Amino acid sequence: MLRTTIAGSLPKPAWLAEPKKLWAPWRLDGEMLAAGKRDAVLATVKRQEAIGIDIVTDGEQSRHHFVHGFLVGIDGVDFAKKQVIGIRADRYKAEAPTVTGPIRRVRSVHGAEIRFLRAHAAKPVKFTLPGPMTIVDTLADAHYRSREKLAMAFAEALNEEALDLAAGGADVIQFDEPAFNVYPEEVRDWGIAALERAARGVPCATAVHICYGYGIPANVAWKQTLGREWRQYEDVFPLLARSAIRQVSLECANSRVPLELMGLLAGKDVLVGAIDVASDAVESADQVAATIRAAMKHVPPARLYPCTNCGMAPLDAELAWAKLKALVAGATLVRKELGAA
Ligand code: ZN
Repeated sequence: MLRTTIAGSLPKPAWLAEPKKLWAPWRLDGEMLAAGKRDAVLATVKRQEAIGIDIVTDGEQSRHHFVHGFLVGIDGVDFAKKQVIGIRADRYKAEAPTVTGPIRRVRSVHGAEIRFLRAHAAKPVKFTLPGPMTIVDTLADAHYRSREKLAMAFAEALNEEALDLAAGGADVIQFDEPAFNVYPEEVRDWGIAALERAARGVPCATAVHICYGYGIPANVAWKQTLGREWRQYEDVFPLLARSAIRQVSLECANSRVPLELMGLLAGKDVLVGAIDVASDAVESADQVAATIRAAMKHVPPARLYPCTNCGMAPLDAELAWAKLKALVAGATLVRKELGAA
């Protein structure tokens, strides 16, 4: 019980990409880049295992960005036609490729990556994909002219990819849907349906990660506007509770999320964010343990997975590793209290 995992991404080594930056350009190219990505995955997996993370990821070392990394293998997305768009209800600007034709997955995007991860990880592995709504929200569209239709087209492509990832050895496939906290009406109207389409028939565990974003200034400023209590999950969780998705990853540490909202996820595995990715302060084991204990009032420990609030890609590398050590130490404390260490 209380098995630890991470939301997904970890900082890349400075020789691979510029540190502490989203969309950081690669510092290698060609064969060197391909070899460098593999070395970075290997290092990040072994370090997660060494500090005691129970379900590891590839740290998203092989992708430029958590959304655009999937799009490189998709027909209908033109990376030569980039334009700056406002994303997440115009919270911040991003340079996005444009959808110019029908969305089709012409080849496996991450097939080689999951096989490499599976071959080198001693522990269960989780692989992350962007969710359909978040993809749609991070793209310019000159073809479908409908967010719902575009999301469903991506859901089919994601489903093909997810089935491949499961066959390649993934124990958990997680769809990242930060956009679910921004567009509650669309979540209800088509977001959950698109997510379930993406996960259809996937034989391993499926998860969805819903957060308040990376610890970048635009997100920190947005959180200031959300009031005393952040109740966005209240709209989404009852819908997820009725869905086929098995795990839900949510933000908790240092947030204003009312913890009782976790009670809306009856029957689901809950990945509780016990590490704040928007703060440079390293949590103590006691702080992590306190977050886990608070979550245990609403989720039984057998279904509770201590996790990070969000991806750690933009953090200082050593800071991120210190935080993950605290995550493991806090979970170990609580396991001992429960007589399960
Ligand atoms: Zn996140």
